[in-house]
Amino acid sequence: MSEFRNERTLVVIKPDGIQRSLVGEIIKRFERVGLKIVGAKFFVPSPDFIDKHYNLNPEWKKNVGEKALEAYRKQGKEAPFNTPEEAGERVIEGLKAYMSSGPVMALALEGAHAVALVRKLVGGTEPLSSDVGTIRGDFVLDSYQMADTDGRAVRNLIHASGSIEEAIDELALWFKDEEIVDYTLVQERILYDVNLDGLVE
Ligand code: GDP
Ligand code: MG
Repeated sequence: MSEFRNERTLVVIKPDGIQRSLVGEIIKRFERVGLKIVGAKFFVPSPDFIDKHYNLNPEWKKNVGEKALEAYRKQGKEAPFNTPEEAGERVIEGLKAYMSSGPVMALALEGAHAVALVRKLVGGTEPLSSDVGTIRGDFVLDSYQMADTDGRAVRNLIHASGSIEEAIDELALWFKDEEIVDYTLVQERILYDVNLDGLVE
């Protein structure tokens, strides 16, 4: 069995995903590609918890602010904030309100290239420009411009860890060790075995 199969990532179905009754649709997309659910929980996170989540990487706030300003620059539009810090702070305040507005479902998913695979299936951050066929591209219509003008976070159904390092830190925040279940799925042989011997009787 390949050791690549052990990579893990965090997915959070955000309150809009729960309210839109998309839990089954979203989980189906991760299951059918071959990823394994190794942890799951359903609760209403506190604003403090969300603050902690988005501050695990101290650079994140400034980076998201820079990205936000750049998105306006590219479109030749005037941004509703002046500095990356100001933009980042606004996004984080919006995220605290958004993510604690109702129940979310957190999932720990495991499988080869879990982090990159989940990001591919989830799609780009802004639903307006996420690819067709991705979860964000297929099921939601929000934009940076509409969210920023209305002073809220972009509603895009899902959080997914952006890198292996982010996944390790985020999984440690969202799940205790004993809440992650080690077990085998029958299909793992087909996905990861080197020699598919013994199939034919
Ligand atoms: P993700 O990894 O694709 O979720 O994107 P980021 O880590 O960059 O941002 C985290 C979340 O903040 C996103 O999923 C959005 O909900 C929200 N967000 C990101 N960028 C912006 C922005 O420029 N404006 C607003 N209003 N919200 C944003
Ligand atoms: Mg991110």
